[in-house]
Amino acid sequence: MIINPPTTPTFDSLEQALKHFFGYDSFRPGQKPIIQAALDDRDLLVIMPTGGGKSLCFQLPALLSSGITIVVSPLIALMQDQVEALRDNGIGATFLNSTLNSMEVRQRAIRILDGEIKLLYVAPERLLTEQFLTFLTQINDRLGIARIAIDEAHCLSEWGHDFRPEYRQLLDLRQYYPSVPFLALTATATERVRQDIIQQLDLRQPIVHVASFNRQNLYYEVRPKQKQSYTELLNIIRQTSGSGIVYCLSRKRVDEITYRLQQDGVEALPYHAGMEDRDRAKNQNRFIRDDVRVMVATIAFGMGINKPDVRFVIHYDLPRNLEGYYQESGRAGRDGELARCILFFSYSDVKTVEFLISQKLDPVTNDPLEEEQRIASQQLRRVIDYAEANECRRTIQLSYFGETFAGSCHNCDNCKHPKPAEDWTIEAQKFLSCVARCKERFGMKYIIDVLRGSKEKRILANQHDQLSTYGIGKDHTADEWKGLGRSLLHQGLLDETSDGYGVLKLNPLSWEVLRKQRSVAIALPNRSTAENLTSDRSKANVELLLDRLRSLRKQIADEQSVPPYVVFPDGSLRQMAEEQPHTLDAFSEISGVGSYKLAQYGTRFLEAIRQFCGEDASSPQAALDPTSIALPHPKPLLSKTHFFTLELHQRGLTPDAIAEKRNLSLGTVIEHLVLLVEADRAVTLDSLVPPERQAQIQQAIQSVGADSLRTIRDRLGESFDYSEIRLVRAKWRHE
Ligand code: ADP
Ligand code: ZN
Repeated sequence: MIINPPTTPTFDSLEQALKHFFGYDSFRPGQKPIIQAALDDRDLLVIMPTGGGKSLCFQLPALLSSGITIVVSPLIALMQDQVEALRDNGIGATFLNSTLNSMEVRQRAIRILDGEIKLLYVAPERLLTEQFLTFLTQINDRLGIARIAIDEAHCLSEWGHDFRPEYRQLLDLRQYYPSVPFLALTATATERVRQDIIQQLDLRQPIVHVASFNRQNLYYEVRPKQKQSYTELLNIIRQTSGSGIVYCLSRKRVDEITYRLQQDGVEALPYHAGMEDRDRAKNQNRFIRDDVRVMVATIAFGMGINKPDVRFVIHYDLPRNLEGYYQESGRAGRDGELARCILFFSYSDVKTVEFLISQKLDPVTNDPLEEEQRIASQQLRRVIDYAEANECRRTIQLSYFGETFAGSCHNCDNCKHPKPAEDWTIEAQKFLSCVARCKERFGMKYIIDVLRGSKEKRILANQHDQLSTYGIGKDHTADEWKGLGRSLLHQGLLDETSDGYGVLKLNPLSWEVLRKQRSVAIALPNRSTAENLTSDRSKANVELLLDRLRSLRKQIADEQSVPPYVVFPDGSLRQMAEEQPHTLDAFSEISGVGSYKLAQYGTRFLEAIRQFCGEDASSPQAALDPTSIALPHPKPLLSKTHFFTLELHQRGLTPDAIAEKRNLSLGTVIEHLVLLVEADRAVTLDSLVPPERQAQIQQAIQSVGADSLRTIRDRLGESFDYSEIRLVRAKWRHE
């Protein structure tokens, strides 16, 4: 018998429910269809990269369904974290795991059976104990089980990187509760693991959702590592606000860099396997709570921690493989806000990693583990490829996961400072036909040797000096050919086996090139200039307010002993600093401000913003004249979309590029810029309209007035377009 059926609030739309419970304005890609399918009681397998927003996919359905949602989660820290974040949104959530004593467990059980809880997090090893199964029956009888969500579902596959035998028993649950839908989630991409999850959980006609692994908010950059690199590291840390991680290869290096950073006044702490568990946990906690800004760590750090507002991840030493690099750098920007991922690359690091690989020995016989060594070397080559590449870094990373990414991402060093591209179609045809003539049985180096007419024994023995492609590539250096070969791989125009031998194989696209149906362009090396960050007064202003809001957030977080991002994520603070809302109504429009947080924190944050604006005369909202306090100058209403355009504009993108990147029309982008100019935001008008044209337009406005665009245009003539006129008129109006 079900007593006390929990009342489920009703909403007109899922968006409304999202705003009510979590304060977000829109869904991330994939979330909505997943949530809809979950509400239709379908079995689901969700594959999304870290930071994609998996949790919401089971949290929102839990709040919109009657009964309790059971969440299986392997990582205790993560579990506690999610529960804290949910509670801070006023949502009934709790967990049961080995950190609780029996008294606490009993108390929680009572609250659960009283119907106060919508989400119950459980560790897998507890789930199938007799005691818990009895409890689960009670829950089911009284309240009903809405669905079972299995987080980090790759743990049940031996093919994943984190196999946990206790996950295998989850199949029993399916048998106990055949009618309860299952929702499995993971960030691991391989097909093998996917199939395993479906099988092991006996998912029934599951909807499989695979999200893109592209994390557009992450800026990727590779810098050469030199003697002065420590100074560069220090500068990056000083210039970037917010938290960050510096990854190093060894414990010794972690200690050394931490020490130097501390000496230079950066709040940094170390994290590596040589430390006591307790100290490690302590440092990690201080990082999560923003007591310390930088964590210097070996790669062990970061797994299973949920800090969404990491603003930079710097690899000071070389990562060993590209998947690892993707996962580690992916710990930045999980909140979807901009973050930087920088890799320092040197050949002496390559030598170090090569040495480590050569040390992979069988623990019993001490013989080299040849297969493992071979695969590790191939993986290392992919990292070197990535670092040396002249093309889009994102394209290369995604190609590693079998995903093709077309064109330029506008958010990596190579896209921002593109090297000139050259047509290498003929060379590509030579290269690919050499692969074909060698019967697709050799790797890159061999093919290049044949092309360049090498007299190497192996080539002569194979009689490959007889091939028509032998020696036809003497006009280019081996390095140039290598650049082409890699580029073909990254662009998906050629394949390579991943057994450690790297044998080149043709694919359908290679044949298109060979049949002259497709041309090939490659980027040529040319060292880029350093990234140029614009800064001006209004930007400094926003940063200043942002700093204040951060300390207020920290203060509130400490009062409640929760991590600061639980109070508000970075993105919300930034939006507050940019939009500077002055009323509770305006404040509730900020992304991340739901009804609960509005009531909880609204006034304190508003007070801080008002105070800041009052004392800062350069702020657009500042009271220049005491009588204007009550009636501030009407300011165009700007929303997030305008600020996103502004951000891209400040990073040097042209309106066309912004339109393309944001998938908006050029007209919309111009509209944004016009509003931004009117609101006196830091738009560099000179980069949009040359100064001499601005002067002409201003003159026209002065003589015919600003009201009619057409009249101004008639005055100026056909060579002027409406966009330029609108931008200049906006400035004129503002002034
Ligand atoms: P994952 O588990 O996939 O790594 P999370 O569920 O932890 O990702 O989500 C990452 C971050 O994104 C969290 O801080 C979360 O609050 C935030 N987030 C999730 N969905 C949205 C959304 N629709 N709008 C804004 N932020 C979101
Ligand atoms: Zn790019």
